[in-house]
Amino acid sequence: MNDPVRLLIHGASGRMGQSLLRLCAEREDCRVVAAVARKVGQRVIDGVPQFAASELSAVPAFDVAIDFSLAEAFDPVLALCVERGAALVSGTTGLDEAQRAAIDAAGSRIPLLWAANFSLGVAVLNDLVERAAAALQGWDCDIVEAHHAQKKDAPSGTALALGASAAQGGAHARYASLRAGDIVGEHTVQFTTAGERIELVHRAGNRDIFARGALHAAANLVGRKPGLYRLRDLL
Ligand code: NAD
Repeated sequence: MNDPVRLLIHGASGRMGQSLLRLCAEREDCRVVAAVARKVGQRVIDGVPQFAASELSAVPAFDVAIDFSLAEAFDPVLALCVERGAALVSGTTGLDEAQRAAIDAAGSRIPLLWAANFSLGVAVLNDLVERAAAALQGWDCDIVEAHHAQKKDAPSGTALALGASAAQGGAHARYASLRAGDIVGEHTVQFTTAGERIELVHRAGNRDIFARGALHAAANLVGRKPGLYRLRDLL
């Protein structure tokens, strides 16, 4: 068997980070060599070395970083991956235009995948939305998303990606966002005209669906040529 892929988890203490660490521990094809969060308490947890954001430059060698942190934490992990020639998988949302341009530029140096949503169901939903928009010219298109009360950005990255799919089909989407309780993530894309309405709905029941997709993508990204990859290239 090949050596396990060496992973850096960025945003390790967060909801997604914890899901990634738990699922990675169940896999034999990857090993977490560094868990990075804004602050650290214990230096090693379950055999995984912990690093604070301020210690990022001191992490050991890794093959691929998986980043689910915050927009304000994104630039240093991108710079580290470019400096080390390591791959990057990121699901961090709320990135601004300069950060998106930095991703495009880094694609000439390292293999890189950024995706607004790592679930297979949402990948299929994007496809359905584009086809529905193309078939329903002139209908209103509205995207309603709901997430837990702590989520910082709105509309969600997934809602914006669904809007882009609708635009590919010729529709102009409008957005509405709800922030409440512990909702993991719900997206409804609604097409409406006089007298009828279609709703396409995706509900995420837990964060493992995103973490599994990100781990799978990370394992598949290592060893590839520099470039910007899409989730569908790696599934
Ligand atoms: P969270 O608030 O629970 O966790 C954030 C993590 O980032 C924490 O570990 C925190 O310590 C770390 N962090 C904060 N500042 C940092 C810094 N300066 N340097 C390094 N680490 C820092 O958030 P979450 O719910 O786990 O979500 C994380 C991100 O992933 C959000 O942007 C969210 O929208 C996104 N997300 C994307 C998907 C997807 O499929 N693409 C799915 C779920 C969540």
